Amino acid sequence: MTKTKSKNIITLKQALEQAEKGKFAIGSFSPRYTDMILPIVRAGEKTKSPIIVQISQKELDRYGITPAEFGDVFYQTMKDEKITVPTVLHLDHTKELQVIKNAIEAGFTSVMMDASEHPLDKNIEISAEAAEFAHSKGVSIEAELGMIGTTDYIETDRDEELYTNPEEALEFVNRTKIDALAVSVGTAHGVYNVRKPTVDLDRLKAIRSLTPVHLVLHGGSGVPAEMIQEAMKLPNGGISKVNIATDLELSLLKALNREERMTNKECKKLPALEREVGQYAVQQTVIDKIENFLASANHAEDFQL
Ligand SMILES: [Zn+2]
Repeated sequence: MTKTKSKNIITLKQALEQAEKGKFAIGSFSPRYTDMILPIVRAGEKTKSPIIVQISQKELDRYGITPAEFGDVFYQTMKDEKITVPTVLHLDHTKELQVIKNAIEAGFTSVMMDASEHPLDKNIEISAEAAEFAHSKGVSIEAELGMIGTTDYIETDRDEELYTNPEEALEFVNRTKIDALAVSVGTAHGVYNVRKPTVDLDRLKAIRSLTPVHLVLHGGSGVPAEMIQEAMKLPNGGISKVNIATDLELSLLKALNREERMTNKECKKLPALEREVGQYAVQQTVIDKIENFLASANHAEDFQL
């Protein structure tokens, strides 16, 4: 089923071109539970910020959600809430082309193929195939080069880390034709218990000097705001998308006094009042990120839609 998209539902490429120009970054927020899509888009509307709503293949599996179900709730919420800010529906880390196809069918306007565990040539081959498919459907694509580490196996199952090589990035972007590149420059998925996050600005500058591809930072939860803001303000376009997942779920679980994650089904069975308390906590976390971390508040009006 092809969804009728209102004009503020845009591709990642449209969103990041504008963010680079304005020297801000757009948060790519993972609700993990379909009921948490609502507080993310509300936070975008309240702060007049462009916003990205994302879910990864592993999250879909872990929480028991299909791309079709996620897409349906997203489009229904956008309509019911009369959301007007520029919004991207993005499929985060995905390994299988079939899942990408299902997401595009479900109305996602952006997808990520993560073949970063393969050697360069194989990564290029897999990412290029996905890019060709996504572009044929008018959808943007992100891919990853180098390996972003993780302390939390929910988004990916990576435990190695390898910084992105700038010369390889140039070759990767040229041969795959991707729109956005997830770079490994010192951040990691999950919570930073063991080590401190860093952002290798020299490496980012070297990548930027070689290619105009949009740059994406994963593992945004827990990274100091000044660090992100320096990375956003690089001449000729810095980081324009920051993925944030863990902090949202932590604020949800804290508000519910829970230690354990839920499945999507369990979340949907919460009593209405509890669900609202959880949604409010997530909304406040997203607003805080937008205002104090990404500097994307009031930038919705930069977009000519
Ligand atoms: Zn990631």
